[in-house]
Order: sequence, then C-alpha cells, then structure tokens
Amino acid sequence: MTSIYQPKMYYQNIFTINYDLLKKQNIKYLIFDLDNTIADCRTITPSKEVITLFNKLQKQGFQIYILSNALKRRVKQFGSALKVPYYYLSLKPLTITFKRLIKNNNLDITKIAMIGDELYTDIKGSNKLKILSILVDPLTKHDYIFSKISRLREKHLIKKTNIIKRGEYYE
Ligand SMILES: [Mg+2]
Repeated sequence: MTSIYQPKMYYQNIFTINYDLLKKQNIKYLIFDLDNTIADCRTITPSKEVITLFNKLQKQGFQIYILSNALKRRVKQFGSALKVPYYYLSLKPLTITFKRLIKNNNLDITKIAMIGDELYTDIKGSNKLKILSILVDPLTKHDYIFSKISRLREKHLIKKTNIIKRGEYYE
C-alpha cells in the first residue's frame, strides 16, 4: 500500500524539476508552496531566478498558483510580485483551500501538479485529492512558524519509514 505521504516525484529543487515530462503527462496547472519551496522564509521578495523560472513556465503554457499556509501579508507579497493567484492560510494538509483554488479557477484535477517541500502538508494534501505530488528539498533549515511542528514529525516519519531517502531523487 502506498503511503499518503509518498510523493509521486522527488527533485532537489524547483529548478531541477522535469517540466517537459510534466507537459508530456498533460499537466497544465502548477501549484507551488511558498516557504522553503520557492523562497527562504527570511526573505520577503522572490529571487530573480524564481521570477525567470515562472516567466519561462508561463510561456510554456503552464498556469501557476501559490498555495501557502503562511499569513496573508507574506503570501500576497509573493503572489503580487510574481503576478500569480495566491492562497494564504490554506491549512494544508486539509483540502479545503485546495478545493477552493480548484473550483475558483475551474481546474481539471488530473492536470494539476502540487510542488512543495513538506510531506505532512504539501504531499499529504495533494495525495488526498489524487493530485500529482512533487516533493523538493527544503531551501533552508529555517522553517516558517507553521512548519516547525510538521517538520519535526516529518523527520521522524522519514527516519522510521522508507518513504524517501534524502538526496535520492526520482520521477
Ligand atoms: Mg514549505
């Protein structure tokens, strides 16, 4: 039995994801987590590299969304700077905000990939809805306040099970 915490794909970071493969798999919508996925939680603006990547992905036809458990002010800063729709205080792994995002934007669930750095929030939430779940390594060791507890649980889970081995990426 596959664990609800098992990511479908695992990459080092958002820059090493095989977006061409996603395209081939008919993925059209990319939902990104914010903290430790696209940004260090100590920064308040997206890096040039992230802006470039998002522009490139949009040119390739992907539609991008941000789904974060962080507070409005923080998520809004990134959503506005990157010019993508954003959802804050999303309560991942609960699916309530996932569902709102999907409904608001009229998305086909089979064409979505969720990209995030946490098994307990991003991956579990996506797997519950059978959204293609993609794990990336956290950008830093610093966690945003909402992630501190789930990160501790995650460390324990990884230690105890074979869900992933850090650094052993797969697609
Ligand atoms: Mg995160």
